[in-house]
Amino acid sequence: MTNTVGHLINGELINDNHRSQAVFNPATGGSDTQVALASKQTVEQAISAAQAAFPEWRNTPPMKRARVMFRFKELLEKNADTICQLIGKEHGKISHDAAGELQRGIENVEFACSAPELLKGEHSRNVGPGIDSWSEFQALGVVAGITPFNFPAMVPMWMFPLAIVCGNTFVLKPSERDPSSTLYIAQLLKEAGLPDGVMNIVNGDKEAVDVLLTDERVKAVSFVGSTPIAEHIYATASANGKRCQALGGAKNHAIVMPDADIDNAVNQLLGAAFGSSGERCMALSVAVAVGDEAADKLITTMKNAMAGLSVGVYSDATNDFGPVITKAHQEKVVGFIDSAERQGASIVVDGRAPKVAGYENGFFVGATLIDDVTKEMDSYKAEIFGPVLQVIRVKSMQEAMQLINDHEYGNGTCIFTRDGEAARYFSDHIEVGMVGINVPLPVPVAYHSFGGWKRSLFGDLHAYGPDGVRFYTKRKTITQRWPSSGVREGASFSFPS
Ligand code: NAD
Repeated sequence: MTNTVGHLINGELINDNHRSQAVFNPATGGSDTQVALASKQTVEQAISAAQAAFPEWRNTPPMKRARVMFRFKELLEKNADTICQLIGKEHGKISHDAAGELQRGIENVEFACSAPELLKGEHSRNVGPGIDSWSEFQALGVVAGITPFNFPAMVPMWMFPLAIVCGNTFVLKPSERDPSSTLYIAQLLKEAGLPDGVMNIVNGDKEAVDVLLTDERVKAVSFVGSTPIAEHIYATASANGKRCQALGGAKNHAIVMPDADIDNAVNQLLGAAFGSSGERCMALSVAVAVGDEAADKLITTMKNAMAGLSVGVYSDATNDFGPVITKAHQEKVVGFIDSAERQGASIVVDGRAPKVAGYENGFFVGATLIDDVTKEMDSYKAEIFGPVLQVIRVKSMQEAMQLINDHEYGNGTCIFTRDGEAARYFSDHIEVGMVGINVPLPVPVAYHSFGGWKRSLFGDLHAYGPDGVRFYTKRKTITQRWPSSGVREGASFSFPS
């Protein structure tokens, strides 16, 4: 029987029977689930519910709002297995990887629990004779989130816990490719005591997103996804007078210096390049080896290590990574490997035809290692978003850094070295938003903020953490005097000083 994933509006699960599309299990290639694709009217209904819930939620004390998040965190932990199963079935990532994603999402809920502290504002006494001044951070109103397929639990939790504790109400449009875990998580909020209408989910595609970008009741939009869509979202939301942060795609390079501990670098690169089938915006997809000696050792050690990797179904925790998200994406990833080969690169480990017993129709791509890649190749310029590690050989650290700084994306990067001076120079001068020093996936913890540079982020404020609080609130500064009774001041025509 086919199950249909609907919408969550004003605390009710609904299906508007407008349009729908299949959700696949990428490990089997089959589908027993449909996702409803919301109409304009359904999205407007969700915005109306959020708008109606706003006045009371805005006035709910921050401590009470935070208590909902404390309960929500407990429910997420209690239901972690169910959530990870739903992620695995529709995304394909292995259970241990899904558990890691969920944990990083929960950390954002934990950060949101500190709302009373985060929203204390700033106060100055006696800025003038008998005058006090303070700044408050007030909620915006209805805010929207639009999220990608690759982290159906974590990325939505970069957004709505913080937005909600800041006093906003929320409409989330998750990825239509793996919607079930996100909807399940949102339903836990009701159990945690969140009033109806504060959190709403509309499943859908461009038709739904267009409403969120143009309806004047939506005050801000957080987006995470690919760069062409991020750019469109930022331009459209901004043109419609909304605050917007739009996080886009990536091409993350790791520099392997001649002095690096290559065995350690290879271990780190294995997980960072192939974990989650390379479908992470922080995946390390290019290793830049400085000098042929480092490159040769890297290739040999990596090739040997890759022989032990296993690709397979999400429910078998001994697998290292699973399939890619769709058949079309599988073909796209294989197409990039073909093009690298055509353009002169050497395929050292070829994952184009992996054998996964019992899952012959799954969307699998095996771990692939490509040497002698150049910056002119299509496979280097584009984000592949698959389990493919490309190696570029350069002669110096300066050349490696120039390569990274010239790339259109600037999300994450890493340097493997034992030289502190080189590492400091690297972190100081590299044009990338998140930098690792012997740390392959430098995803900031929840009390910092996440964001890339260049065409990996459109907007001023990064996601979650301190920047998230600023994004989901507007500053109001109040200057106050209570004159003593009977005291009158004369009019003054000079600027107050
Ligand atoms: P995507 O851009 O295809 O989709 C993201 C969201 O946008 C989805 O909800 C989708 O329904 C919606 N969307 C798609 N086309 C649209 C259109 N024409 N108009 C309006 N909305 C549209 O991205 P994806 O394939 O789901 O996710 C993978 C991409 O996300 C990769 O590029 C990855 O690097 C990026 N990503 C970035 C970060 C980051 O923090 N920078 C994090 C995770 C993923």
